[in-house]
Amino acid sequence: MSRRQPVVGVLGGGQLARMLAVAGVPLGVNFRVVDGKADVCAAQAAPVTASGWDDHDTLGAFADRVDVATFDFENVPADTARWLTGRTRVAPNPDALAVAQDRMAEKTTFNAIGLPTADFRPVDTRADLDRALADIGTPAILKTRRMGYDGKGQFRLKSGADADAAWDALGEPAAQYGLILEAFVPFEREVSVVAVRGRDGEFRAWPLTQNWHVDGILSMSLAPAPGADALQGKAFEHARHLAEKLDYVGVFALELFVVDGDLKGNEMAPRVHNSGHWTIDGAVTSQFENHVRAVLGLPLGDTSARCPSVMCNWIGELPDVQAFLGVDDAHGHDSGKDPRAGRKVGHATVCGPDHALLRERVAAVARALNRDEQAAPVLDAL
Ligand code: AMP
Repeated sequence: MSRRQPVVGVLGGGQLARMLAVAGVPLGVNFRVVDGKADVCAAQAAPVTASGWDDHDTLGAFADRVDVATFDFENVPADTARWLTGRTRVAPNPDALAVAQDRMAEKTTFNAIGLPTADFRPVDTRADLDRALADIGTPAILKTRRMGYDGKGQFRLKSGADADAAWDALGEPAAQYGLILEAFVPFEREVSVVAVRGRDGEFRAWPLTQNWHVDGILSMSLAPAPGADALQGKAFEHARHLAEKLDYVGVFALELFVVDGDLKGNEMAPRVHNSGHWTIDGAVTSQFENHVRAVLGLPLGDTSARCPSVMCNWIGELPDVQAFLGVDDAHGHDSGKDPRAGRKVGHATVCGPDHALLRERVAAVARALNRDEQAAPVLDAL
């Protein structure tokens, strides 16, 4: 082919890289992926090169072949992103990545833009933990500062008597990653803003999404979050300020707690996000397409919802798609991963023209997926 197509390079080869490639192909974009191993699920959609994050020969060759490098995984070392910045365009920028990798830096940045958070303290030693507990009180959550995901690397303390058990569980990662103690937030609900900022600073956000977690893993999302008009305006302003402070380019998610009718920041993801998966079927432009547009400097697409949507993650096992694809406007998204306990392996999205019809459809899909219990609060919210 003589035609020169733009090439997006993705660091990390999981399902997010795979969905980015699937969204970018109709725009005439090619993809190249680097990951620690070549046998990753993105390989079904784009060529994958195995590389360590410090393998400068392989990463240099990768940089030479792409127009821009981006991430499907926030824990790519910021130094790798900095090294690449001298060789190709990198979006989001390495400093934004570094903030999102460290819960202390993240919460400090939230506070600096006027977004309140739970009270928090850094914890590096057992004595720090006692001091932090004396300051913050209980209940509280001890978390690794870095590398935590899907509720991993967290310990909930009901009272000071749990300090020894918390230290037994997390004292070892403390030496490697550092810890943070956070006050427990008695939230009414969890919501997220998935937003995109273009190279020219244009900012757009998808409607506020309500999320339900089971064992720290996202189970279901409903968008637009019902009855959240006032909160949505505030959430968008926080997301805009964060993106501007970080000079962010691309899609990101800001996870928020609703408490006493107001918002507290929990964490940000410097990438497309699971709570934005509904946008593939339920929004005018998906988060994946807009991320590709943003990092390539193309005009951003409309982030409006096409209709209300519910996303249901497949966790630990693949469902029989036969059982639910017959439901109107229900869609299956298999990530192409081998199922194992606690692993996200795909999702279903159900859309409906109104809440009443969506409710019926979600109930039918939940029945087919054997997820009635997890769907109950979502049905209540509709
Ligand atoms: P995280 O990895 O920080 O997103 O935590 C995973 C989930 O644990 C969140 O989505 C919440 O459901 C819960 N969680 C985390 N931090 C807190 C907190 N400070 N207070 C209450 N719940 C929390």
